[in-house]
Amino acid sequence: AVIERTRAVEPQVKAFNSFDEADALAQAAASDVRRAAGEALGPLDGIPIGLKDVIAVRDQPLTASSRMLANFVSPYDATVTERLKNAGAVLWGRLNLDEFAMGSSTENSATQTTRNPWDLACVPGGSSGGSAAAVAAGQAIATLGSDTGGSIRQPAAFCGVVGLKPSYGLVSRYGLIAFASSLDQIGPFTRTVEDAALLLQAIAGHDARDSTSFNTQIPDYRAALAQAGKPSAWKLGVPKEYFGEGIDAEVSAAVERAIEFYRAQGCEIVEVSLPHTRYCLDVYYVLATAEASSNLARYDGIRYGHRAQGASDIVDLYFKSRAEGFGEEVKRRIILGTYVLSSGYYDAYYLRAQKVRRLVTQDFLNAYAKVDALITPTVPAPAFKVGAKADPLALYLCDIYTIGANLAGLPAISLPCGFTAGGLPIGLQLIGQPFGEAALLRIAQAYE
Ligand code: GLN
Repeated sequence: AVIERTRAVEPQVKAFNSFDEADALAQAAASDVRRAAGEALGPLDGIPIGLKDVIAVRDQPLTASSRMLANFVSPYDATVTERLKNAGAVLWGRLNLDEFAMGSSTENSATQTTRNPWDLACVPGGSSGGSAAAVAAGQAIATLGSDTGGSIRQPAAFCGVVGLKPSYGLVSRYGLIAFASSLDQIGPFTRTVEDAALLLQAIAGHDARDSTSFNTQIPDYRAALAQAGKPSAWKLGVPKEYFGEGIDAEVSAAVERAIEFYRAQGCEIVEVSLPHTRYCLDVYYVLATAEASSNLARYDGIRYGHRAQGASDIVDLYFKSRAEGFGEEVKRRIILGTYVLSSGYYDAYYLRAQKVRRLVTQDFLNAYAKVDALITPTVPAPAFKVGAKADPLALYLCDIYTIGANLAGLPAISLPCGFTAGGLPIGLQLIGQPFGEAALLRIAQAYE
């Protein structure tokens, strides 16, 4: 059914960079054989799951939607890939994104611009736009994306699906093409909160191959959905800084309705303040670009990836390969990141941003002394038209509500909370306590 659906809608939606029907059918057939033989089935046995094209699958293309990796085939599996395989999933297709996950609309892809299934004139959000659109359009049962500053939650909001960014360290980054290593997390896109719990269960857990992987007991998330408390016991914080200037009226009305829903269920709603919110974007675009400039230094045209022809010497080869291989936004970030890390500016920008990051984190921890979770819009406005935000700074503003959770390493989920009069989905964000995914999922499901 997923293959048929993909054949029917993919020419319009353009969610996939690549897929292999024969390979998916062979995996599904293997699942059928297990079932027929009465073998114990994995929790995701036979379920087609798509992967953002930054997550490695052995012997499959891995492009990051970049010319730099246009012909790259991964020699190994990411940890999440291995875990999905162990859970019985059918790995189905590589999904489009903004090149190297840098962007908020999937327009920075070197491959194609994915469309929003709710309105093909609109963007699906980004950077995991393909992963969000595929679930919304029924081209996969679930998908994985990565979230560095909102790249799971923002496209989930634009496409009307559930998107979960886990706590930093909960899901291994081994085999994820690195953008900003201290912020990147892999997480699921699904149609329901319960499915998000199932996917998280499959991919979470300690991995010795990721030095930032956290060694903690992984709860049974699905069981927790049935158990973890009652709405009347929850205190939800409404951060006043998230409802200020720049928010679309339909978005704020929809989120207000969700807040009223929780109040009517017996939750205590408390106004809280995250005073350093206004620095989040600045801090993010210093730290993320700094880390990106370092991570992307490996694409030198020598070891793998695009290699320019006709270079006169090795330095010329680096220059030409990178000039040809990277798109505009990636170059902009490498330049910015190199600048903030350069001697003379390191203290003024990079180090200072690290200090403010600590203050942002402390804001959240202070709020969590009073509340169980925070409730906010996911994005200030609904999906915009393809081409409408040509100015990179206008695009950076889309991340204003999502970045805080990345800077502080917190789990956060976006779930649908209604539509605009024009029929575009609106997203509600819930931000949880560190490693508090079980409670967060439970709170999210109460609204669903
Ligand atoms: N839109 C943000 C950026 O461009 C976030 C991207 C992401 O989370 N990968 O950096």
